[in-house]
Amino acid sequence: MLTSADIKELNAIKSSNPLISLYLNTDQELQNKEKILTSAKDLLKKVADTLPTNLQQKVLDYLDQELNQEIKGLAFFIDPAGEPWRQYQFRVPVRQGVYQEANLHLTQLEELLDEYERYCTVVLDKEKAQIFTVFLSEIEDITDIFNEFPGQHAQGGWSQKRFQGHIEDHVQRHLKEIATKTYGLFKQDSFDRLIIAGSKEILPDFKKALHPDLQSRLAGDFATELFQPTEHFLQESLKVAEKVEREKEAELVKELGDNLGVGNKAVSGVRDTLQAVNDKKVMKLVLADGFTQSGYNCPSCGLLGLEADECGCQDELEEVADLIDEMMQAAIAQGARVEFVKGSKELEDLGNVGAFLRY
Ligand SMILES: [Zn+2]
Repeated sequence: MLTSADIKELNAIKSSNPLISLYLNTDQELQNKEKILTSAKDLLKKVADTLPTNLQQKVLDYLDQELNQEIKGLAFFIDPAGEPWRQYQFRVPVRQGVYQEANLHLTQLEELLDEYERYCTVVLDKEKAQIFTVFLSEIEDITDIFNEFPGQHAQGGWSQKRFQGHIEDHVQRHLKEIATKTYGLFKQDSFDRLIIAGSKEILPDFKKALHPDLQSRLAGDFATELFQPTEHFLQESLKVAEKVEREKEAELVKELGDNLGVGNKAVSGVRDTLQAVNDKKVMKLVLADGFTQSGYNCPSCGLLGLEADECGCQDELEEVADLIDEMMQAAIAQGARVEFVKGSKELEDLGNVGAFLRY
């Protein structure tokens, strides 16, 4: 799982040669393997002067062998003169690009740390607890680290007064201790949101035992038992995260609407968004999930259009069945991020597509 310590370590890598940083969006919901390989080849061409053919081939071989539906983003960090060769797989897409600089280009990794919420998932029963970090659609068991935090030890007194529920005192003390440790973890590691899980019987009491700062960061809960496999906790946590994601999408659509017509910061609707893609001005493309539209593509200059006569080239434009897909490919190729929004009436009103512009 990516941490800021990784970025620090990568940042410290020095070489007398320019270093290559390559990021690929390998989300197979957005593009098939063939298209991913083609755009990888296009990016590698840009650094062909520095990156020997055998190392270019090593990247392509890696893609050929390793790509699967789970891997949505890849980063390669290469010293053309030899070591190091490092590569990272992500379960979320990264912004595509290739860089040849004195230091490694780490902006995309920093964006991942910035943009995604880090969740702490606490799974507990009456006696035990297991703690996880869920980030970038990956899960890590941090129960051992968690256990190092000081907790509230049984001293009677106020905790008994405060919880006069149906659950026994020793369970209440256990919940209080886990709540205190979770708060300690939050103070040290500052996760963004909390998910709690366990039997329906104890979750309400655990919620009450949480520090107010954590109660306000509670993203949701799910009923489960400790013996379940980690993958199950991941999937359930991702369902909660999905709900948070919907809220963020609603904010994004609102931001899009607010920025329309203000100093060329954003556009909406197929026609204006196409124009921005053709002008290579798109920073972030916003698409209503499942929206399609047919259109045209110029074989000479690559221009995308709604009508057959939109390009200045002599050639006849080719009809494309899925113009939105073409638009997305073009946006990814120019380093834009793509955000899908599900079931938003507001985005539908804005014309189903929109874009935040670079300038
Ligand atoms: Zn043309």
